[in-house]
Amino acid sequence: MTDRTGDRPGDRTGDRTGDRTGDRRGAANAATVLRTVLEHGPVARSGISELCGLSPAAVSRQTTGLLRGGLLRELPEPTGPIASGRPRIPLDLHTGAVGGPVAAGLHIGVPSSTFSLVDLRGEVLARRAFPYRDPTDPRLPARIAHELAGFLARFDTGRPLLGVGVALGGWVRPDTGTVVRHPALGWRGMPLAADLSRALGLPVRVDNHARAVAGAEMLYGPPAARRSLVHLFVGNVVDAAFGIEGTVHRGPGSAAGDVAHLPVPGSRAACGCGRTGCLQATASDTALGAEAVRRGIVPDPSVPLLVDAAATGDPRADRLLRERARAVGRAAALLLDVFNPAVMVVTELSSVLHEGYLDEIRAAAVERSHVCDEPGRIISPHAGPAVLPQAAATVLLDPLFRDPGRPTAG
Ligand SMILES: [Zn+2]
Repeated sequence: MTDRTGDRPGDRTGDRTGDRTGDRRGAANAATVLRTVLEHGPVARSGISELCGLSPAAVSRQTTGLLRGGLLRELPEPTGPIASGRPRIPLDLHTGAVGGPVAAGLHIGVPSSTFSLVDLRGEVLARRAFPYRDPTDPRLPARIAHELAGFLARFDTGRPLLGVGVALGGWVRPDTGTVVRHPALGWRGMPLAADLSRALGLPVRVDNHARAVAGAEMLYGPPAARRSLVHLFVGNVVDAAFGIEGTVHRGPGSAAGDVAHLPVPGSRAACGCGRTGCLQATASDTALGAEAVRRGIVPDPSVPLLVDAAATGDPRADRLLRERARAVGRAAALLLDVFNPAVMVVTELSSVLHEGYLDEIRAAAVERSHVCDEPGRIISPHAGPAVLPQAAATVLLDPLFRDPGRPTAG
């Protein structure tokens, strides 16, 4: 984090200067300290200094600010002899039941939304689903805000609420807080962050759900994810995100990640775009649900129902899920070849719940890829079934770990 402002580890005066460069350097140092504690905490000040390379004086200044801001807390000093004669009070992220800040998460899906409360370590403390019959109801945004307010009131434990992170499919611009377009919901140019913020009286930040999951993997997932990752999201919509060195790529207009019409080798499924073999038409939950009904496996086009049917021993359900997993694997292979990421995260319901389908995705990907022969590089999200509740809140929490002093809405 320190390289962003040209700061050097060990700098002894930088974050004290009052000019703008000094402010930026101070913010970068605060972020470095916070992320070191995230990765290694509980850890004493001297340990933070050794781990991140900032001087003991700079660490001391930053921890004072982070303690005052309620993001860190001091834990009881370990008992026993003190080797160096210095106190070694361990510091950790403030996840305490009294005073530990939380972020709300809102994943807006079709046909339901999910509300969550998440602490600074990405732990999902509470969650609730809010299903709706008609996702194109123009009153839906207001209803979601109302239900979310009820959820937040019900689970209010007096802990500071930092704001709301929102994740949803489609083209979403975090910088303007708008949903540029979300075909399944019929939203176009919707100022979602401003509308929700007004309704809830809280800071709100929005992002695409594939990028949100990628951000959550980089913040809370395996260390390799911070080097580089590609995330493939397979739900009713299919999209992707790419991240490198801890930052998710957005590109001009935050339009990156639209892989709905990526051609899947071997697929002849007809797509709404007029072509055949597109990823969305081949492998989305919508396509899978329709195929499951067509084959008479389930009465409704529901992927959770299909996964249940497979889990309770229906071989037709299992076969269809394996077919889908292999199509997802072949699409993953294309992305692996383009980006060669350290890890490829795949969010897909059956493989998140049952390792056997992840193995199917891995086998198909490695068989098709020209660069990846390690199936272990393809992983499910670390949070498992809590992936979306955690990722939504991470939309709000991620900027906090980049600039702990900045208001969370920015
Ligand atoms: Zn298409």
